[in-house]
Amino acid sequence: MRYHRQMLLPDFGEAAQEALGQATVLIAGVGALGCGVADLLARAGVGTLRIVDRDIVETSNLQRQMLYAQRDADDARPKAIAAADRLTAINPDITIEPHVTDITPATIEPLAARCHVLVDGLDNLDTRYLLNDLAVRDGLPYVYGGAVGTGGLVMPLLPPDPRGPVQWDAPTGCLRCVFPEPPPPGTLPTCDTAGVLGPAIGTVTAHQAALTLSLLIGRTGDDLDRTMHAVDPWQGESRRMALPGPSATCPCCGSRTFEWLEGGRGSAASVLCGRNAVQVHPHQSGHMNLDELAARLTEHGDVRHDAHVLRCTLPDDITITVFADGRALIATDDLVAARSIYDTYIGA
Ligand SMILES: [Zn+2]
Repeated sequence: MRYHRQMLLPDFGEAAQEALGQATVLIAGVGALGCGVADLLARAGVGTLRIVDRDIVETSNLQRQMLYAQRDADDARPKAIAAADRLTAINPDITIEPHVTDITPATIEPLAARCHVLVDGLDNLDTRYLLNDLAVRDGLPYVYGGAVGTGGLVMPLLPPDPRGPVQWDAPTGCLRCVFPEPPPPGTLPTCDTAGVLGPAIGTVTAHQAALTLSLLIGRTGDDLDRTMHAVDPWQGESRRMALPGPSATCPCCGSRTFEWLEGGRGSAASVLCGRNAVQVHPHQSGHMNLDELAARLTEHGDVRHDAHVLRCTLPDDITITVFADGRALIATDDLVAARSIYDTYIGA
């Protein structure tokens, strides 16, 4: 009886457990937050976890990204694949769908299709605003999470018009009602500049997982915690703030204009949080034959690859990592140089 101890709880039981088993949850990003939430949801018996991440495991992740082990970093495994293996080992009775890709306006629709809840495990604001656009447009609940330094922020964002499998009466404002615009790049602390405490991740992901389970078992009335939580286990602080309701003047949930989803906002090349690396998107996303690319790159440097990812160290010691969807991570903090390397060695 894998789920016996949670089924003893007052809000659970056969029907709730059945609902969890029928549910599909999008875990957008399996860095620190996504790992923690996915682990709890897999153990609780959520039927399908669709886990999406664009990145590879590195040793500096292991301090807080609990689904990964040293060998995943040594082998530079894609996070979505390494996470899927670990989650399947934890609970072989559920379905794990790993996707090694970036969440962009071009990819987000199939990733979110048929999902009951969208869970934020993201490391950047552009993708959060994109996820918010989709949540509002399609009437899906968005469980926001963020952590940096010794604390973090959690909130359930429930659009005015639920259109997915999860229903609720009282909506909240959306991400743009709370934070109308993302701040200019480089103005917020990141895990790269400010560091991040492992227990801060644990606190945030526990709240995110509790909100997700509540939504999935129909605990969506007054019993659902609809507040914004700012938590800091290092200072022993936890603050609850009322979430605003939907704002008539909000461009997203008020006027239903979706600036990120429709492609006008967000960038194609970006410096990644926590790494000395630039991600470059091809102009058109699609499947890249990594065998052919490996054959081409062999004359330029040392190449290792499998079906998901290729890694090559170029003569000037710059490492490029190429994924099967055509994206590349280039180990430099220079956006222009990264685009040039992409065009030279991979081709647009
Ligand atoms: Zn809004």
